[in-house]
Amino acid sequence: EALIGGVSIKRIEAFAAREAAAYAAARPRTRAALAEGAGAFLDGVPMHWMRDWPQPFPMLVARARGARIEDLDGHKIDDFCLGDTGSMFGHSPAPVARAIRAQAGRGLTYMLPTEDALAAGRLLTERFGPMLWQIATTATDANRNAIRVARAVTGRAKVLVFNGCYHGTVEDVMVRRREGRTEARPGLVGQVADLTRLAVAAEFNDLASVEAALAGGDIAAILTEPVMTNSCMVLPEPGFHAGLRDLASRFGALLIIDETHTISSGLGGYTRTHGLEPDIFVTGKCVAGGVATAIWGLSRETARRFGVYDAARAPGHSGMGTTLSANPLQFAALRATLAEVMTPENYARMEAGAARLSAGLTKAVTRVGAPWHVVRVGARVEFICAPGPLKNGIEAEAAHKPALEAAIHQGLLNRGSLIAPFHNMMLISPATSRAQIDRLVAAFAEVLGQLFET
Ligand code: PMP
Repeated sequence: EALIGGVSIKRIEAFAAREAAAYAAARPRTRAALAEGAGAFLDGVPMHWMRDWPQPFPMLVARARGARIEDLDGHKIDDFCLGDTGSMFGHSPAPVARAIRAQAGRGLTYMLPTEDALAAGRLLTERFGPMLWQIATTATDANRNAIRVARAVTGRAKVLVFNGCYHGTVEDVMVRRREGRTEARPGLVGQVADLTRLAVAAEFNDLASVEAALAGGDIAAILTEPVMTNSCMVLPEPGFHAGLRDLASRFGALLIIDETHTISSGLGGYTRTHGLEPDIFVTGKCVAGGVATAIWGLSRETARRFGVYDAARAPGHSGMGTTLSANPLQFAALRATLAEVMTPENYARMEAGAARLSAGLTKAVTRVGAPWHVVRVGARVEFICAPGPLKNGIEAEAAHKPALEAAIHQGLLNRGSLIAPFHNMMLISPATSRAQIDRLVAAFAEVLGQLFET
């Protein structure tokens, strides 16, 4: 009998069909509203990723607060997706909502800073360390800008990334590694540039592959997450980050640490909790409590080198920007988040909740004897439908089981818990209650019981 992740394919298909039908039957208002209103959008969704949820049609959200999201049909769902990290601190945290209300009548964008901006700058340094900061609107843009600076100060072209990584829609690094060679990822829309001239893919947890690439002398920067979170989660092995830091310095490349997801690790992200030493630090998503904001910071030495470059640069467009970035609404929300939401107390709550979830999921996996494992980075928990730990992007890709995962996601949603699409990620916010965690664990155990027929 054919199996995926230890589960019979026939049983996955039957389960998925049952759950999809139950989802659809429970949402007459949503269906009617979509039938009336979705036609204006390309493919019926305002952003093409919204097709990628496993449900037969999207959930329309009526409201969300804390760790609870309510759909148009009145279903109150425990939200563990939390906007795929954008709302990691809960939906509409009270201090952020207050700050937005206060700014709402004072103008929303000026291309000039505010007092909140100055306070936010000081708080960024307090939370993340002594860097020199810039504000962007998306982590994608922050990474793009970081790469420009790295190329500027080194005079080199290529960016080293890891097979299986994701750093936003940063065009230049959309590469993967196959049999030791870098190639463009398949599926890119309208791709014309030869990405192998702009990026090199090495293998995570494989310092030899990094050194081999750096030896070419044309790498401007290593761009990496501290933990690979965008395939199935891959933790760094002991010594990997120290090795990366050492190799980057030895070969004259900058080290860009992208903390867009690993900001779940604790106060100051993985960088602070594990003592990493990036030349450029990037994060986004939840940094302003859900208001579109990203930050990037240069170490003092990188800033000094960039200053020299910048002073000699020809006049004209820098290639870095976007008009709405560093607007007063972002600063109000950023300041409120850094001062009142991104606190040690809240991280402690998130950590305790995530440990509880991780233990509960592990127990459910063990009970049915599934060949799976559970992995956690602070407030971020993932179940993986394959044995672990995973070592690199090759293993992570093989561990991903789309059909099985989609069926589980749908089953969990029908039982009241929403988890992130694309991967099996669950986030614990400061607002997430023990009861919500226990409901998710119970739903997961029930779904596994049906899939493994115990
Ligand atoms: N960096 C990492 C590690 C990410 O996971 C993502 C998005 N998932 C980004 C950057 C890009 O963030 P955004 O889509 O907000 O630009």
